[in-house]
Order: sequence, then C-alpha cells, then structure tokens
Amino acid sequence: MHDDAPEPAFPSRPVRRVVIAGGGTAGWMAAAAISKVLGRALEVTLVESEEIGTVGVGEATIPTLITYHRLLGIDERAFMAASQATVKLGISFEHWRSEGHRYIHSFGVTGKDHWSAGFQHFWLKGRERGLASGYEDYCIELQAALQHRFAHLPRYHMNYAYHLDASRYARFLREMSERHGCRRIEGRIAEVLTDEASGFIAALRLQDGTTIEGDLFVDCTGFRALLIGQTLGVGFEDWSHWLLNDRAIATQTTAVRAPEPYTRAIAEKWGWQWRIPLQHRVGNGIVYSSRHVDDDEARERFLSSLEGEVMRSPWPVRFRPGRRTRCWHRNCIALGLAGSFIEPLESTTIHLIQRGIVRLVQAFPQVVTRPAIAEYNARLDEELQHVRDFVVLHYHATERRDSPYWEHVASMPLPATLQHRIDLFRETGTVFHVPGELFGENSWIQVMMGQGIVPRHRHPTPDQMGDEELSRFLDTIRTEVAGTVRQLPAHQDYLRQYCPAPAP
Ligand SMILES: Cc1cc2nc3c(=O)[nH]c(=O)nc-3n(C[C@H](O)[C@H](O)[C@H](O)COP(=O)(O)OP(=O)(O)OC[C@H]3O[C@@H](n4cnc5c(N)ncnc54)[C@H](O)[C@@H]3O)c2cc1C
Repeated sequence: MHDDAPEPAFPSRPVRRVVIAGGGTAGWMAAAAISKVLGRALEVTLVESEEIGTVGVGEATIPTLITYHRLLGIDERAFMAASQATVKLGISFEHWRSEGHRYIHSFGVTGKDHWSAGFQHFWLKGRERGLASGYEDYCIELQAALQHRFAHLPRYHMNYAYHLDASRYARFLREMSERHGCRRIEGRIAEVLTDEASGFIAALRLQDGTTIEGDLFVDCTGFRALLIGQTLGVGFEDWSHWLLNDRAIATQTTAVRAPEPYTRAIAEKWGWQWRIPLQHRVGNGIVYSSRHVDDDEARERFLSSLEGEVMRSPWPVRFRPGRRTRCWHRNCIALGLAGSFIEPLESTTIHLIQRGIVRLVQAFPQVVTRPAIAEYNARLDEELQHVRDFVVLHYHATERRDSPYWEHVASMPLPATLQHRIDLFRETGTVFHVPGELFGENSWIQVMMGQGIVPRHRHPTPDQMGDEELSRFLDTIRTEVAGTVRQLPAHQDYLRQYCPAPAP
C-alpha cells in the first residue's frame, strides 16, 4: 500500500509477540531493552542473517549511553571489557575551521555560569581585558582529553562516553537478551507478509520457509529498511542538500600508540576521516561526497593516511542522509539506519537508537493506536532535526574555502532553526537549550567558537566585576581544572586496571 493512501482501521489485537528484524547494534539494543523490561509479558524474537552481516561501523558514542546501560543494569566494567572499550571525552576536530587548526568538542562543562549570563560572557570580557587564556583551559574533560588522562573521581563526575567494538557489543547485548528470554533465529528474510485489511505486518517469511508471526515489528534491517521502506512504502526525506557526504570507506588497523580518550575527526577537501581507538585496535574511516571526489581518489587518500597494519580489508558503505517521514507506521517501528541517518560526525546514531527504544518501551502499546504513533513520531522528529542542525553547523561555520566542497557548505542556505542559533550567538554570545534536546549550551558554544564564530556583543553582567575580581574568578577555575587533571592517571593505565579486555 502506498504511503499516502487513506489508512484503514487499526485492528484491536493485543500486542504479545514482538519481532525484531535485524541483529546489528539497533536490533540487539532493542532486544536487550525489551526483553529485560517486558520479557515476562511478551514473546521477543530477533531474526538476523550472518550471511548478510551488519554495516560494521558505529563505534563512537556519546555520554547518554551510560544512562541506557544504567536503565538496563549493565555493569560498566563487564561491558567495557567485553567490547574492548576505551573512554571518550570528546571529539578532536582537526582542520575544520581552517587547515592546521584544531579544537576539541568535549563532553564537559566549561567554567562556571552566573544565572544571568553563561561563562562564555565572562571569558569574552576576560579576553578583551587580556585576563583570560584559551577557552579550553576552563574545562576538566577537555584538559584531560588533551593530556590523555582519565579516572572515575570520587568528588567530580567526569562526563564521558565510550569507543567500542560494534560486533563485540552486539554479542554482549545478545547474551543479555537471550538470558532474558529473547529467541534468536538465524535466517534471511525473503518476504514480509502483510494483512490485507489493515495493512499491518503479519509475519516474516524466511528463505527456508519458516514463518515468524508477530503483533509488533521492529525494523532494524539497516539501510535496506526491509519492513518500513520496502514493504510499507514509508517515504524518505532527503537531507543531502545540507549534508553532502554520501559514501564512506572503513577499515581496522593495529594501534601504534596508547589509545587517546577522544575520537579524531580530520577534515579533508571533500569530507573527513575518523579515528576511533579501542583497546585492541583502531577503527578508521573516510566519509566523503561522491559529488566532489571519486571513489578511487578517496580510497587512495584514506589508505595513504592510515597508521598501523590493516587488519580487515577496507569496505565501502553508501548512504543517503535523511529520515523516514514516519519512523513508526502501523505496527512497525524503524530503529537505526532503517529509520534515519545523519552522518557520523558527532556519533549520534547509537544515541538516536537508544532514544527510539526508550520512547518505545515507555509508550509500549497494549494495542497499537494512532495517538501513540503520532506522539512517538513527533518527538523523534524534533530530536532528529536538532541533531541535524548541530552536525550541519560544523560544515557551514568554517573559514575553509579551499575546494568546491567547502565553498558550497559555507554558502548553502541553512535550516531556519540553525540560522537562528548562529545569528543569536554571533550577535549576542548567547545560546539556548530547549528541554529534551541532546546538545546542551556547552556543546553549541564549543563548536561555534571552535569553528570560528566570534560574538559581536556580550552580556553586561561581567562588567559588574573589576579587572582584579574577574582575573581572580578566571584564574581560580583554571587552577582547579589543572589541579583536578593532574591527579588523573594516564587513560591507558586506568583501562588496564579498571576493565582489561581479554586478548582478542
Ligand atoms: C560510515 C558510518 C559510520 C558510523 N559511525 C557511527 C559512530 O561512530 N557512532 C554512532 O553512534 N553511529 C555511527 N554510525 C551509525 C551506526 O553504524 C549504526 O547506528 C549502527 O551500526 C546500527 O546499525 P543498524 O543495526 O541499524 O544496521 P546494520 O548494522 O546494518 O544491521 C542490519 C541487520 O539487519 C540484518 N538484515 C538485513 N536484511 C536482512 C534480511 N533480509 N534477512 C535477515 N536479516 C537481515 C543484517 O544481517 C543485520 O543484522 C555510522 C554509520 C556509518 C554508515
């Protein structure tokens, strides 16, 4: 049935059987949560195909994953050891503002705010008066990242995330899901059967003829979007006019140094490269726009810039940035790459999967209803747009004009929501956070300043302070930051004692 056709009445059948199609990160994250929280009331089945495999990337995360693990009662040490995980304190953006320039978008809080004005206003005044050092000197996580240090501290909670081995993470979640009663079926889905009257999905038919019936289906089949796209025909909103990159090449290499506690995002003339250090190896990738460079040139640039020995043949990934017009349609919810994809610059997809799962569990239907679907889709849309705007910011706000790619992104018209944030910061030095949005004020400020946006005006609150008082205020914070970071052990030493991974 077509996307725009009038909707038939929904059946009032109770939801008892949940079928998850696909066993990548999205599939197993969903299986772990649903079977842990609702496993006694529901029958949960996951179908995956080893022959098809997973996308094989997606190894950098953001701090919200810690919350997800807490909700599921996952022990951090066990998870980190099983996934060969390292700590991530932020992302190092190299050559983004201009060639040779580097800044870190850290997960930490910078300085101390006054209720009337954020810390950046005090810092801006400090700069005017020659009393402030670099903005990065006032953030513990950022300084720890620069010095490659980490520990869990008794009196200060460092805000951090993880780098993880995606296939080991899926295995870890699989064990947990199976312990909570999830049934795993190996096989290739050959057909998705729908109920003619309602248009609901009724069953998956596998290549070997097995039929798996269900009441609610979670589409985690990756870019194939077998259920939501290919079967239900839900449309896709393309965002490639804002996010030019549509291809990637990924590989894994041996480590040549101790793992940095941050992801590296290194800009190129037509895209960027990632470096994700794990305990046992490094994940590498290049993301690019096929409109601006051909595959051979991108591949050559990628291979020539790798460090360490290549452990797995580089594999290509093609994608289209954007989202399904509805991630929940009838009795099908799309998670992960089947639902949307905003390129991996800020490592947001696993977070969006997690948000989709948490919302689904919280809105879990006794029967499928239209208001529940409408609410789910509306909230998810807001989150996606917010993440899209934040990622687009990195491209647009740059001094780079050294290639048609950078010229294009610097002059492209922006989503109105993003244009407003940039205008506000440029004119007033102020940012805002709408409840529920992923990226907080600290993130917007770090990236806007990192990308070279200098506010024309600032708030007058710091003018209440004389030079001496302002200098003392700034120095105290900087000294506290330096003192805290000095106590921390080297990141690698900490991992060795906290969560040593078994030899791979
Ligand atoms: C280049 C790139 C880099 C990325 N980096 C990051 C990052 O750093 N951080 C982040 O948060 N996210 C990142 N992502 C996103 C991340 O990879 C995904 O969110 C994550 O891997 C989840 O993917 P998935 O489970 O939706 O799909 P997949 O991993 O593709 O899994 C799909 C599953 O469906 C199964 N399947 C498909 N068709 C069938 C069929 N017919 N029958 C049976 N089974 C089937 C497959 O076998 C597989 O198990 C990145 C994505 C790309 C493209």
